[in-house]
Amino acid sequence: MTASSAPATSYKDTLNLLQTPFSMRANAKVREPEIQAFWAELQLYERLSQQNPGESFTLHDGPPYANGALHVGHALNKILKDIINKTALLQGKKARFIPGWDCHGLPIELKVLQGLKSSERAELTPVSLRQKAHAYALEQVEGQKAGFRRWGIWADWDQPYLTLQKSYEAAQIGVFGAMVLAGHIYRGLKPVHWSPSSRTALAEAELEYPDGHTSPSVFVAFPAVQLPKGLATQLSAAGLKPEAAIAEGGLAVAIWTTTPWTLPANLAVSVNERLDYAICAVSPRGESTAPSASHLVVAAELRESLEASLGLELQPLLRVKGADLEGIVYRHPLLERASAVVIGGDYITTEAGTGLVHTAPGHGVDDFNTGKKYGLPVLCPVDEAGNLTAEAGPFAGTNVLKDANPTIIEALEGTGLLLKQERYEHRYPYDWRTKKPTIFRATEQWFASVEGFRAAALEAIAQVEWLPASGRNRIEAMVSERGDWCISRQRTWGVPIPVFYHRETGEVLLNQTTLDHIQALIAEHGSDVWWERDEAGLLPEPYAAEAAQWRKGTDTMDVWFDSGSSWAGVLGGIAGGESRAPELHYPADLYLEGSDQHRGWFQSSLLTSVAVNGHAPYKRVLTHGFTLDEKGRKMSKSLGNVVDPAVLVEGGKNEKQEPAYGADVLRLWVSSVDYSADVPLGPGIVKQLADVYRKVRNTARYLLGNLHDFDPARDAVPYAELPLLDQWMLQRTAALIDSVSGDFERFEFYRFFQALQNFCVVDLSNVYLDIAKDRLYVSGAQEFRRRSCQTVLALVVERLAGLIAPVLCHMAEDIWQNLPYAVSERSVFERGWPTAPAEWRQPELETPMAQILELRALVNRQLESCRASGQLGASLEAQVQLELGDGAESTRAALRWLESTAHPSVDNLADWLLVSALQQGGSAPADVLAEANEAGITVRIAKAAGEKCERCWHYETDIGQHSTHPSLCGRCVAVLS
Ligand SMILES: [Zn+2]
Repeated sequence: MTASSAPATSYKDTLNLLQTPFSMRANAKVREPEIQAFWAELQLYERLSQQNPGESFTLHDGPPYANGALHVGHALNKILKDIINKTALLQGKKARFIPGWDCHGLPIELKVLQGLKSSERAELTPVSLRQKAHAYALEQVEGQKAGFRRWGIWADWDQPYLTLQKSYEAAQIGVFGAMVLAGHIYRGLKPVHWSPSSRTALAEAELEYPDGHTSPSVFVAFPAVQLPKGLATQLSAAGLKPEAAIAEGGLAVAIWTTTPWTLPANLAVSVNERLDYAICAVSPRGESTAPSASHLVVAAELRESLEASLGLELQPLLRVKGADLEGIVYRHPLLERASAVVIGGDYITTEAGTGLVHTAPGHGVDDFNTGKKYGLPVLCPVDEAGNLTAEAGPFAGTNVLKDANPTIIEALEGTGLLLKQERYEHRYPYDWRTKKPTIFRATEQWFASVEGFRAAALEAIAQVEWLPASGRNRIEAMVSERGDWCISRQRTWGVPIPVFYHRETGEVLLNQTTLDHIQALIAEHGSDVWWERDEAGLLPEPYAAEAAQWRKGTDTMDVWFDSGSSWAGVLGGIAGGESRAPELHYPADLYLEGSDQHRGWFQSSLLTSVAVNGHAPYKRVLTHGFTLDEKGRKMSKSLGNVVDPAVLVEGGKNEKQEPAYGADVLRLWVSSVDYSADVPLGPGIVKQLADVYRKVRNTARYLLGNLHDFDPARDAVPYAELPLLDQWMLQRTAALIDSVSGDFERFEFYRFFQALQNFCVVDLSNVYLDIAKDRLYVSGAQEFRRRSCQTVLALVVERLAGLIAPVLCHMAEDIWQNLPYAVSERSVFERGWPTAPAEWRQPELETPMAQILELRALVNRQLESCRASGQLGASLEAQVQLELGDGAESTRAALRWLESTAHPSVDNLADWLLVSALQQGGSAPADVLAEANEAGITVRIAKAAGEKCERCWHYETDIGQHSTHPSLCGRCVAVLS
């Protein structure tokens, strides 16, 4: 019989089809801002972060620099923070997040200066420059803030902390003052990294080391004019006449330097007392010309390699220890001056050069320390622009980065003392802003004496949890080895070093009274007051009366001191300080930044906090890597591989080529990467992420679409009455909740990303929902088969929304807003972190279910081969016969488990295999289409008996028995009547 009376479409209308306004397409460009407006209207972040019942959680924001557009590095950083904060909020904690910006410093000052006409520059005063810099910084803050908000980041956006705010500056002065009073701040002449191009001292963190730097290196002979007694005796014993050795053209010490411009500042030659040195007779090799010295002193270990590189025969006549050389007096090769050979330290090695080190205390840290030991002056004949001064004699006026080197080398050539010159490639520090080489230059600077609290800092590091653990080694090594921290800068846009100098004696005025007074002035007026007022207006009594004697300092503080004081300025971690919000605490629970901050903010914050309070400002420090392109290269405009997060979220000019993926896809990327190393991003990765996003969205849509006529209050089936398949699905959901909770606890979001995909694709789509189609579509709307399934769908979709909320916050809220039944929470974030009732946890369901899913896979492979050969269409056209032999015990046990069900209308193998009939044992069907035998299981596929029901597409033998519905099976007839 064929169905001709009723058109198929009429039966289609009797199925329970999907109904939901939750759209397949995200339409993120419109929908995400709508959801954000909804959150704002509910004041959701404000209420949860202030009124949640749990403890407070302080993730303290490291301030990005207020300059430039947001890039994917910002996205990685801020979204990681937001995922952690949203998780904490869902867990009922008061996770108040005060975002910050670093607003002072040279880059902004330069930006302002570059934007001025020369006439405007001429009229510029420090105060007007600061006003322009202030306005520029605020404008940049607003631009970046809008980007962060668009990404769905929750924070106190209307009350961020800015390092230019009065209260912040005052707290920073408080930190500086506490360090002054504890004896940790001093002023000294010391070689510091100096940028002639910026005319300022630079911190370690402001340097970069570009590849391919070469310097003009020179080997020079310094002729000895006087020998110490001990050495003279040894020379005599070796048959050399000391008197002759020091005669003109006699004995010389050989040095090597890559900075010829420092030679005018030479005040010593240093040796390592423990190394062996050789006194060698010199003769030319091949065509080379003989130097003016007949004997050279070099490190014994380097003698042979020097013979090759200098092109000289160096015949060793006497071997002595470095200590024996101390006290040789030599003549400066270029200036009328004599200096001595001194003992340096273990920094003198035989890795390069001659083993004897040209020493200029004004131009190197080791040189400075050695000079200090011998009471040498800190000679620094270089001005702030890098020009040699009158102290450099005939070289005055040349520039160390331009003509000083060639001029000095030419002069050396004329003396006959130049042994060799060559280009030398090495690591050399450049100014990170101007990209020009820096020098070491001794200047009067303000320092924080790290030596004074190094031990306490190392102890504090040990108390902190570093994630990953290698972070501890990094910062420990840096803090153990670092020198004192130069905190002064010769710039205008910053917080002043609040010091006065006596106009005649240079005496420094810096004490509790002046510090308190300046701090109060800055709290009231901001740090502009330092430039707006004269000394009389800045000095407290009793000094104000003698204001004419004092001159205010002009240095500003290193910006790392600004941001490094944020624990005081924001978290209130200083005596008399106030935190920005009652929920914040100090030390913070967590700092989270890129791994370069071991050198930067993690360290500057640690040093100031330890110096003032004796402990770290954080309990835990989590670091992330950097963003690279898909091939592992740095993103750069020239390579054309930059992913602009604004384009990714909002789309490009041509949305066909650059679609608007929305903030959730950007957030999903952040969750997908193992950020403990550098992380890749590019168009291919974005496409894959968009696919995962769609998969999750479509899964949620399917769940919602099948709940349109379901009200848990009315229709839910109690857990104990659910079929085995449903209980298994809830066991899987409980397992997902447990694993994802752990993943978030350990900040391993990429595991969440994998678990989420697995849950949506495998557990839900491939298994549970695949089997459930018949229950959902075909059953009567209120049948147990369908209501029990809907019960599970509702329980799952609510928890799925909660689990994705920290990452896919917009989609999670969209799901919540489209739940087709009433819930008591207006937002998914009010529901809290998903939980599973204890009864859901039935791990014993996993084993039989796994067996059955294996059997299902075996059957599917046979069905697939029948489909491929055109013998079958849909799997419902098939019947299956199973025979379980030896070796199939666990499958047999699984089938017994299935047969024990109280709900055979759901828990039956034919339905689970999506076939129309199933037979266990008995005789094989006629016309077997496919047969397989694996692990004791025989599977035979044949055409199902009967005809296809027009409504449910099952093949049944009872079709045609009902006169009104001659094309339907008995089950469908029952549903319709
Ligand atoms: Zn039917």
